[in-house]
Amino acid sequence: MSHVLTLNAGSSSLKFGLFLTGANEPEELAGGLVDRIGGAAVLNLHDATGQDLSRRQLTADEGATHAAALAAGLADLAAHFPDARVDVVGHRVVHGGPAFAAPTEVTPDVLDALERLSPFAPLHQPHNLSGIRAAQAAFAKARQVACFDTAFHRNHPFVNDVFALPRAYYDKGVRRYGFHGLSYDYIAGELARIAPQIAKGRVIVAHLGNGASMCGMIDGRSIASSMGFSALDGLPMGTRVGQLDPGVMLYLMEQEGLSASEISDLLYKHSGLLGLSGVSNDMRRLEASDDPHAREAIDYFTFRIRRELGGLAAALDGIDALVFTAGIGENSARVREEVCRGTGWLGIEIDPARNAAHAQVISTEQSRVRVMVLPTDEERVIARAAARLAACGAGQTG
Ligand code: AMP
Repeated sequence: MSHVLTLNAGSSSLKFGLFLTGANEPEELAGGLVDRIGGAAVLNLHDATGQDLSRRQLTADEGATHAAALAAGLADLAAHFPDARVDVVGHRVVHGGPAFAAPTEVTPDVLDALERLSPFAPLHQPHNLSGIRAAQAAFAKARQVACFDTAFHRNHPFVNDVFALPRAYYDKGVRRYGFHGLSYDYIAGELARIAPQIAKGRVIVAHLGNGASMCGMIDGRSIASSMGFSALDGLPMGTRVGQLDPGVMLYLMEQEGLSASEISDLLYKHSGLLGLSGVSNDMRRLEASDDPHAREAIDYFTFRIRRELGGLAAALDGIDALVFTAGIGENSARVREEVCRGTGWLGIEIDPARNAAHAQVISTEQSRVRVMVLPTDEERVIARAAARLAACGAGQTG
């Protein structure tokens, strides 16, 4: 028996989980979140059922950096789990570039390679890597494993991997990577467990959270994704724009005089549901609002999901199952209903009562396509990779 820690370091947040590993599936003991790092940071620690173990405001020093926030989180963990001995720390890393197609033990060379990928994901990768450095400092003897959001998609067929730019850009790494791979990995595993026949077929998964994307899989392997080079592409998201004509960016630069960082800010932080509605990036608030712009933002969101559904069905030569997951996908009956409205031509028919009850299967008995709602668990995918490393030798653990 040993313990593994999972870490998901964002720009101003640090999510962590403590798991017990043994012969079988890792067992979650606790999870925590430090939010607003660099500001008025708050630390929350909860047990595996979601019950609070501690919740406190951090001092300015405790919340100043990722390393300090991790130390504060570990202090609270140690108070509740004094016997925990962390052998491996598993990290969520947004970008693995063309090379990393599986969870990989972090060595100095690997860390250098991941640093070189930072220009591909400048808003995320540096924070992920500061989480790795903080964990290396906190657990000098533990091994570290990086788990990539891009890895699940690495074997896309060429036509789903490329942009029609001059070939030299492809060779430099300007490719369609796809993201949310840890979530898709988890859902593929859940499907194989609960519906093995369906899992072998053509499955479209809609990961609809504050970040949103869709993935078309055959036999549990990614064939196509709505996200491309960056986590901006595809569906509109809480604050991210989703698919955008590149001509709009030229216009913003040439006519509106926006700089690269202003455009980045606009596309990542002020667009999507927030930008369109002017009300909120949060689906619960949009659903509760009677502002017509909130209604239009939801309409655009569900319309783009339907379009992507048709496109991914074409990429897979048809569809056997549609799975909704993440915050909106798991909890919003309204969004699921609106996405599935008018998709009878694809063989999709949902049962309103099952949908309203958030049942695991929300399609009717007659529906040719099975429509499901499955909660995702990205931390568990990281914990499994860390547990595999704890149980075996160095290198790629996938
Ligand atoms: P995530 O990024 O997966 O945590 O998902 C966050 C999104 O899920 C936010 O837009 C939330 O408003 C949305 N969400 C969570 N619960 C519900 C709910 N009961 N109904 C509608 N949206 C929800």
